[in-house]
This record gives sequence, C-alpha cells and structure tokens, in this order.
Amino acid sequence: MVINLSKEHSLVSNWVAEIRDVDVQKDRMRFRRNLERIGEIAAYEISKLLPTVDKEVQTPLGTAVCKVLAQQPVLATILRAGLPLHQGLLNYFDQADNAFVSAYRKHATDGSFQISLEYLSSPEIDNRVVIISDPMLATGSSLVKTVQYLKEEGEPSSIHVVAAIACSVGIEYVRREVPQINIWCGDIDDELTAKGYIVPGLGDAGDLAFGAKIQM
Ligand code: URA
Repeated sequence: MVINLSKEHSLVSNWVAEIRDVDVQKDRMRFRRNLERIGEIAAYEISKLLPTVDKEVQTPLGTAVCKVLAQQPVLATILRAGLPLHQGLLNYFDQADNAFVSAYRKHATDGSFQISLEYLSSPEIDNRVVIISDPMLATGSSLVKTVQYLKEEGEPSSIHVVAAIACSVGIEYVRREVPQINIWCGDIDDELTAKGYIVPGLGDAGDLAFGAKIQM
C-alpha cells in the first residue's frame, strides 16, 4: 500500500510546499517543524489501522468504554535526517518504543555510493508494528538495508514507512524487496539525479534540518 498524503489537498500539501521552497528553507526551525508536522499527521493516519482493545475508564461521573491501542508501536528512524519526522511520530505515539539506525552514503570517486549501516539500537520488534521514518525515500536502498537490519532482531507484525518526499523509482524498489511494506509519503516525485537526489525534491534534508556536514 502506498499513500500520498498530498493527493487530496490538506495542510500536509502546504507543509510540503514549504519544505521544498528555497526561501522558506532558510528557516531551519520551520523546516524541522514542518517535517515534524508531517510525521504527526502520518501517525494519526497510521493509527486508524492499528488494533485496539476496549478499556473501561473511570470518569468523575461514571464509566466510559474507550478504544485504546492494543500495543505500542516501535518507531524506528535513520540518523540523522530522520529525527524531525521521528519526533512528529513520537509526539502522537507518545508511549512508543524507539529504534535508531545509522545509515549513510559512502561515495566513490565515480559518484556511485554504497549504503553503510553502522549502528542499531532497537527494542524487541517480534510481532510488533514497526514505523520507520526516512524523510527522503530516494533510491530506497538505505530503507531496504534498514528493514533487513531490523529484521535480524525479529519479525514485525507489520512495517510502515513514513517519508516526507518519496521517488517513484525508490517506492518500486522497496516494494519489490519488501513487498509487505506500507509507504506513507508527503508527496511523490518521479525523477532521481545520477547522485540519487530526488527531483524536484527539496535538496539534502539532513543539511537543511541540522546544517551542512563535512564528512561524505
Ligand atoms: N536524501 C536527501 O536528503 N535528499 C534527496 O533528494 C535524496 C536523499
């Protein structure tokens, strides 16, 4: 399942317009907050699919039977660019467990790159809903590696991916490699540069959120 949250106009499409806009991008706090807001809406939409149980809640006037999440999800993100989107998901799934993966592109002189994964901190994920945030689903290779890395820890009951912008090429790759995955994105673009950047995309999400880095 692939859901483009901007397909029908909502505030999400306004926030996507802002994160893409070179003028608005100058405000780093607004860039991070907009990613966070997209994460919050994605959390709300995903929550509609999660199993619930009935809970009796005592009010000052009586007892209400309320639906609550049957189980807390695991929120996983890819350092460092994923952090604002992850924070948005965590704002809504505020009791979730969390996993962190470090993945980066190791560039060769010819412009090609390999994904290097070096760090994983994860709770138990067996039979749990795992929601992975990655702001830019470009080639899909870091996401597929992350899923494979996480699956070494256990078999989730379902996996959702949240991206601010996804590229159709990357979506197809991820769906081929991990067919059972659900992808929620702020918008979908069709083009990738030779260096794996999404066009029109928005540029480098990690640099825009946290500042330029010197290591490649
Ligand atoms: N990572 C980014 O930050 N931007 C892209 O366009 C692709 C990957």
